[in-house]
Amino acid sequence: MELPLAETTIRVLLIDADPAEYALVGTLLDAVGHTTYELTWCRRFEHAADAIAADLHDVILLDFQSDQQSAHALLLKAVQQGFPRPIIVMTAEMDPGVDREAVRSGASDYLQKGRIDSQVLERSIRYAIERKQSERKLARLAHYDPLTNVPNRILFRDRLGRAVERAKRGQQTVALFFVDLDGFKQINDTMGHDAGDALIRAVAERLGACVRKSDSVARIGGDEFTLILEDVSTTGDIVNVARKVIEVISRPVPFGSQQLFVGASIGIAVYPEGGEDIDTLLKHADMAMYQAKGLRGSAYRFYTEKMNVEATNQMYLEADLRRALRRGEFELYYQPRIALGDERIAGVEGLLRWNHPVRGLVKPAEFIPLAEDVGLIVPLGYWVIHQACQDILAMDARGMEPIHLAVNLSFRQFLDEKFVQTVSNIIADAGIDPWRLEFELTETAIMSNVEDTERCMQVIRALGPTFSLDDFGTGYSSFAHIQRLPIGALKIDRSFVSQVNLRPDDATIVRAMINLAHGLGLKVIAEGAETREQVQFLREHGCDQVQGYYYSTPVPFEEFAGLMRADIKAVG
Ligand code: C2E
Ligand code: MG
Ligand code: MG
Repeated sequence: MELPLAETTIRVLLIDADPAEYALVGTLLDAVGHTTYELTWCRRFEHAADAIAADLHDVILLDFQSDQQSAHALLLKAVQQGFPRPIIVMTAEMDPGVDREAVRSGASDYLQKGRIDSQVLERSIRYAIERKQSERKLARLAHYDPLTNVPNRILFRDRLGRAVERAKRGQQTVALFFVDLDGFKQINDTMGHDAGDALIRAVAERLGACVRKSDSVARIGGDEFTLILEDVSTTGDIVNVARKVIEVISRPVPFGSQQLFVGASIGIAVYPEGGEDIDTLLKHADMAMYQAKGLRGSAYRFYTEKMNVEATNQMYLEADLRRALRRGEFELYYQPRIALGDERIAGVEGLLRWNHPVRGLVKPAEFIPLAEDVGLIVPLGYWVIHQACQDILAMDARGMEPIHLAVNLSFRQFLDEKFVQTVSNIIADAGIDPWRLEFELTETAIMSNVEDTERCMQVIRALGPTFSLDDFGTGYSSFAHIQRLPIGALKIDRSFVSQVNLRPDDATIVRAMINLAHGLGLKVIAEGAETREQVQFLREHGCDQVQGYYYSTPVPFEEFAGLMRADIKAVG
């Protein structure tokens, strides 16, 4: 960062409309013997802001004579945006006062045109650069912790304040972590301050690696750190970060031939429940930290009791989930899709259920996101496909009509390198007709990784299985993509269908979706029809199939087999 002024080339940006001025400054700089200058000329003010923002120069010379207003605006903007280089203004001789005002607005120095010689110019540039550098050093000292280079308490408060403001505007959450090291004082006392310093530095660095770029780590006391996590969606996300923080702090820190060990107690307050301003949040995070200190080993506590309960539940649920697959606690339920033309079962969707030994039947909304978070969705997803194939075989063995059986795929499953290979192995091992299998994907899943997903879809489609677009209308997708993807059907999301007879807007949307799908040559399946009126509306507007409680809830395989035999009409 430092510029050894005597040796380096100094890059100067001149903002001045007058070519003569450019020639003059060039000549004057050339005449300085001991330093090399690289002069760039920006002739037009409308390009000047970009040229400054690019920050490719060590110093800016800004003409204040020809268009003082634009020049002043430019100067103010650069200063407000915290531009880190000096700006020297060049004023007219006739204009006393202007120079001082420019300096008050943030210019580093002023030169009077017509009175500049080589020496004056050189000195002004050199002093301006040196002064700016020491200003920056001071500013850094005021805002950063010199030992770790992370923000100190002052900058931390500023950042937390801004994060809370942003959250207020966007109705988001902010999580504040108050991290206190366990056993730090002992290391400092018995092994010396160098050991303590090494430890603090390592902790700061590791904390930085635990959070996203947009999040912020600060050191606010001897062994106290804070973390600001913005826009966190669930307690689970926060818990994951807390665990990671504990994990990285617990790793040994090498010091000479020794290893240093500390633990961490973390208190967490989440805006807005845990406080609506920075002082309250801090106080509550601090209180929660003291509670965490009272627990054995490294631990975290939320200020809000509700979140502690959620965190504990999630921990148990996760442990249970890891065992559930081995213990055979999962089951596929089946919900028929009814063709509106003849009201017969034209297909079926397999929906995952967890028979939890204590909690009873757990719905996917409670465990799929968790399984996605911890990577369990991949083996679980294979189990679903395997089970679907077994049930297709069972249907065939009973002589049931050969309909499509659909299962849901999560975007995470496409991240598994062996996905295509494993799916094709499962299908081949089961020996089913591959076209019997259908995969449901949401728009969001597809759009989260368009290229990989599309490639996988093409390969799988070539093997025989078909695809449908689930929850259509709730995510974001472009028609260009839908057209390109090997999709056979659109499933209109339940949220549109449920109000179709009450809300004219929804009726319009549903009609448009049906037309769109047909225009693209796709089948349309409406999800979540519960009433006769809804089904009637859908039939009138040419929807192909309906899946919803009106005909049947998802039921265990045996019951579904019964529906097939009885023919669904009796149910509706
Ligand atoms: P989905 O794929 O959109 O499935 C439709 C959901 O709507 C099912 O909820 C179904 O029970 C429900 N539903 C169907 N008809 C009606 C109705 O008339 N009224 C109401 N109120 N609800 C209806 P479920 O079984 O709880 O599944 C929820 C979501 O969980 C599924 O939405 C799907 O995204 C996901 N899911 C289920 N099984 C799996 C799976 O094996 N793998 C993955 N990755 N996700 C799954
Ligand atoms: Mg589905
Ligand atoms: Mg759906």
